[in-house]
Amino acid sequence: MERELRSIEDFDLEGQRVFIRVDFNVPLANGSVADDARIKAAIPTINHALENDARVIIGSHFGRPKGEVNPKFSLLPVASRLAELLDREVIFPESCIGDGPRKLVQDLRDGEVILLENLRFEPGEESNDEGFARELAAYCDIYINDAFGAAHRCHASVDGLPKLIENRGAGFLMQKEIENLGQLLAKPERPYVAILGGSKVSTKIGAFDSLMMHADAILVGGAMAYTFLKAQGVQTGASMVENAKLAIARRALLKAEDRGVNVCLPTDHIIVKDVDPEADATVCTNSTFPADGIAVDIGPETVDHYKKIISEAKTVFWNGPMGIFEMKPFAKGTNQVADAVAHAPGKTVVGGGDSLLALKQSGFLPDVTHASTGGGASLEFIEGKELPGLEALMTLKVELELDQF
Ligand code: ADP
Ligand code: MG
Repeated sequence: MERELRSIEDFDLEGQRVFIRVDFNVPLANGSVADDARIKAAIPTINHALENDARVIIGSHFGRPKGEVNPKFSLLPVASRLAELLDREVIFPESCIGDGPRKLVQDLRDGEVILLENLRFEPGEESNDEGFARELAAYCDIYINDAFGAAHRCHASVDGLPKLIENRGAGFLMQKEIENLGQLLAKPERPYVAILGGSKVSTKIGAFDSLMMHADAILVGGAMAYTFLKAQGVQTGASMVENAKLAIARRALLKAEDRGVNVCLPTDHIIVKDVDPEADATVCTNSTFPADGIAVDIGPETVDHYKKIISEAKTVFWNGPMGIFEMKPFAKGTNQVADAVAHAPGKTVVGGGDSLLALKQSGFLPDVTHASTGGGASLEFIEGKELPGLEALMTLKVELELDQF
């Protein structure tokens, strides 16, 4: 039978207890929310439920308290910020399960909202415990998942819980993520250029493998480029290389060549002798790489080459910075790629925590088509892996038969 993913808009929410799983795993500074982007991203879904007179129960994880109560990982600062953003009171119980929250949920009236305390304070969350999922299930009539950033986790509030609720579906943020990332796998406009960077080949090789089935070109930068270059026999000095991944990298390059995918590796580099923002930085090419040189950014020739390819792309996917962008002198390559992506003529999708940070620092965040809120989840989606959180939301499509009437 055909399966479908229902939307929050498919349900009559009035008077219903609606559990919304969100990703409020935000950075804190001095006990308050330092960046509320993730909270803001879930507001349309929460407001939709409240405007339709639902009784809203919000659940989220926060940090890694490892199944124990730890005030450091309390969602209290998030509850305050949420109340400001919603411009209404947010009820905040001391725990996510037990008599306290159960009573508050029972007494909840239409248009009221509860934010449960950190779900990961309970060991049952990460172990996907059925008993824990049942306690949460007892709270609600409808389950909505808007936590794309947690969709790759097989945890109770993402997997066990929705499977217990017949009326389940996706929130607006989840839908937006699936739509934008889904287009990269199904019929992207061509040319489709993927840019892969960041620290490790090992975490991105799955994405590389999948991208070569879909993209016309893959531009490689960041530390992972040096494992690929070394695999090709290029001298990479003292740059960060994963020696255990050389064979995998070599195989991936051969496969891409077989498929006719244009894989570009950097041809010049910004190098230093010590990784320090004050260090003297010079430019070298693949044939002049000194034995003691550490690559910290892609060089100007590579930047120009990548910019040209990006400027002609109708679809761009970018994950992973081109260099150690946290140090300003080595952020140039990443910033120029951000500029090119922001000005590319077609659809541009960016994923990855550090890539988004780089995009934000360079001021180009508003100019991309879609900035994915899920780092790990967006990579797994691109790899074509099944995400437990999405799988658990799927329901069988009920075909109404005429003779029933
Ligand atoms: P994202 O979070 O966007 O997926 P990653 O976490 O994979 O990106 O990689 C980001 C990290 O890679 C940054 O901390 C950056 O400093 C590091 N990095 C990029 N280029 C290099 C390099 N040449 N040498 C060492 N580290 C690098
Ligand atoms: Mg990262």
